[in-house]
Amino acid sequence: MKRCAWAWAALWLSALSYGGVDIQGFAPPDIDKWVLQREYRRIWRAIDDDSVPPDTDAIVVRYYFKRMGSAETSWLPEWGGGGAVGKNLVIVPLDADPFLHQSFLQITTHELAHIVLARAAGDVALPRWFHEGLAMTLSGEIGFDEQVVLSRALLTGSLMPLASIDSVNGFRQYRAMLAYCESHQAVTLLINRYGLEIIPQIIAAARSRGNFWGGMDSVLVMMPIEFESAVRQAIRSRYQFIGFIADTYMAWIGAAILFLVGYFMTRMRNRRRLREMAAAEQAAALRAAEAASDRDAAAQGSSGTTDTDIWRKNETHTQ
Ligand SMILES: [Zn+2]
Repeated sequence: MKRCAWAWAALWLSALSYGGVDIQGFAPPDIDKWVLQREYRRIWRAIDDDSVPPDTDAIVVRYYFKRMGSAETSWLPEWGGGGAVGKNLVIVPLDADPFLHQSFLQITTHELAHIVLARAAGDVALPRWFHEGLAMTLSGEIGFDEQVVLSRALLTGSLMPLASIDSVNGFRQYRAMLAYCESHQAVTLLINRYGLEIIPQIIAAARSRGNFWGGMDSVLVMMPIEFESAVRQAIRSRYQFIGFIADTYMAWIGAAILFLVGYFMTRMRNRRRLREMAAAEQAAALRAAEAASDRDAAAQGSSGTTDTDIWRKNETHTQ
């Protein structure tokens, strides 16, 4: 009993030290404030280097239905599954059709990651690709095929500059999907090359330099143009081969269609020639028969008969 009381006290203090979560509206059955506080703590630990005390402000997580005409509906793009508003509010529509993520817990965790990042960065505005890429990485599963989107963008040459992703809320769904994929690839590049621990270092350096790219320069000695180029190179090396297969696959289909068309045209031409040859032979045979018939008639009408005529006559009869 005593141990149980201590456990509850520890849990309560832990929740208090990371701020509480206040759920409003129609919370899905698998979500409660303890689950969300646990996720908030996990994310804070992943991106914090202990240089900033955890933000203890309470967070409101509001679940609502768009069809009920809630005011929050106008705050999200049509493809949005949730939103982080400022540093204290998360909104999640329960009747949206988002392209990203599949469960409400993942959507809420994604939005909590935005809250944690905004709080950890203090007054520094982090670029949207950094926000989205980390929120995707920290909330787990991705609900669409990144390979398809990126290989198609490579084929059509439609990869976008990372800076343009800041305007993603105004994008239509396909461009928004591409923006999220590129964001994910950019953050994955950072984590694969330098480990997850590079993230709190970049955020801390950005805070001390007063801007994000200053932080990137301090930690990685990398300017925006160099990082952009590294991200494109990483995407190309990972997905260009898939695009190449798709490309050559189409070329093979084209070659097969050309072969079939050629085969049937040759076959039709040969059949036409055979018909013409058969008709020519038939005409020649007819002409020969007519000539022979004329000779017979001439022989019968003549008074003298030579040995040759008799032979021809016999020959004609024996045929
Ligand atoms: Zn997001």
